[in-house]
Amino acid sequence: MPQRIYVDGEWVQASGGAAIQVVNPATEQPFDEVPRSGPKDVARAVEAAAAALPAWSARPVTERAGLCAAVAAALGERADELTETIVNELGMPIKLTRAIQVGSPIRTFMSMPEVAAGVAFEEELGSSVVHRDPVGVVGAITPWNYPLHQIAAKVAPALTAGCTVVLKPSEVTPLDAFVLAEVMHEVGIPAGVFNVVSGTGPEAGEALAAHPLVDMVSFTGSTRAGRRVAELAAAGVKRTALELGGKSANVLLDDLDDAAFEDAVRKGVAACYLNSGQTCSALTRLLVPRERLQDAERLAADEAVTYTPGDPRDPATRLGPLVSAVQRERVREHLRSAAEDGATILTGGPAAPDGLERGYYVRPTVITGVAPESRIAQEEIFGPVLVILPYDGEDEAVRIANGTPYGLAAGVRAADQDRARRVARRLRAGQIRINDGAHNGLAPFGGFKQSGYGREYGRFGLEEFLTTTSVQL
Ligand code: NAD
Repeated sequence: MPQRIYVDGEWVQASGGAAIQVVNPATEQPFDEVPRSGPKDVARAVEAAAAALPAWSARPVTERAGLCAAVAAALGERADELTETIVNELGMPIKLTRAIQVGSPIRTFMSMPEVAAGVAFEEELGSSVVHRDPVGVVGAITPWNYPLHQIAAKVAPALTAGCTVVLKPSEVTPLDAFVLAEVMHEVGIPAGVFNVVSGTGPEAGEALAAHPLVDMVSFTGSTRAGRRVAELAAAGVKRTALELGGKSANVLLDDLDDAAFEDAVRKGVAACYLNSGQTCSALTRLLVPRERLQDAERLAADEAVTYTPGDPRDPATRLGPLVSAVQRERVREHLRSAAEDGATILTGGPAAPDGLERGYYVRPTVITGVAPESRIAQEEIFGPVLVILPYDGEDEAVRIANGTPYGLAAGVRAADQDRARRVARRLRAGQIRINDGAHNGLAPFGGFKQSGYGREYGRFGLEEFLTTTSVQL
């Protein structure tokens, strides 16, 4: 029960005394609360981070990266507690929570010594020495869908780079950030280097983005909020990194045989429904050759119904609730509006799933019969909603895939790997999977267009928090 915020190495009362309730999305019951911090609390944390910067940035990078590895080990020791916390605040099925929501941030912190070793922090260039220096105090603002994972993607490289951090986690899923603060304290991250201030976006988030002592804002969340953060940061000429939304395409090329096509459609459903569709890189538009549209519709609907929504604590559950009533209503509104616009809902739809009166559950849904320009095929829905779009020829597939305001991720499936790679190179998306290529936590991730700018993970994520200085000899 975190009744205090973590500032300058101590647990302190937030000013104002108001609290934000944390609700379990599977039961709709509040089960905890965190302080609702305001600008004064943010200022206190930013001042602590600024004061801690000179000493932290002067420590050798190997020491900073080593402390991140120690954070990973300590998080690993608390993996059961973290799994429990994140299932309670987010509602993702327990096995997936453990593997992804807890496993991935541990791997990110653990990777820091290796990642740092791949960056030239000092190099000679003719008569100059070029240094890569920490950008300074970082304000990190994170979303609820992969809460600790998104935090780790910023905090681990920022600390390794030599920056100090004030984190404002999502007010919907803030609890895991408090566990991280305890871990930071325990492993000896010095006071002021890492601070956690819980609060809402308009109150704590905006204060952080606008604070004059913040040198960089690293934001992950919606395009709407990212735009606002960038506006505020621009006034202070701060560096920003924005990881925003997506409407990613999964392109099935026409050379797949029947078995490969079926596999691609079924795995395509999984790539859309992970975390109940609340994944920024979810492949939410399935692009199929027009002559195979009916097969795709039949297979996708058949696969979708195997994702019976249910209790995230049941190890057999593959589809948990959405995170909040607001999110559920947003998804239902999209489904109602698509139906009114003439879309065919093959399975699912806006009605509550049978037998689940409590919890923010949504039926796994597959939609067809819509134009690529329609709202349901253009806007990020953030629920278990797959849209199938037919195409005529590879050029049209590429045009449809690139034809949204976003450009975060994509998938390509083909029998001919070289052809898949050629098509992938024509897609304006930051991360592309060919034939279900394995996830690589060291590969860069980030967007084109309204999916944002900046890259996270591996060497590329670390470089975001560095600036260059040159000394002429
Ligand atoms: P959100 O934008 O509502 O909130 C994200 C964070 O921003 C929260 O901490 C929130 O408090 C804060 N915030 C909101 N308004 C703000 C403001 N005016 N000023 C400062 N901070 C503000 O997003 P969400 O609903 O938490 O997350 C879902 C969104 O995040 C989706 O659009 C998803 O695609 C995106 N996302 C992107 C990535 C990526 O890497 N590209 C990863 C995960 C999620």
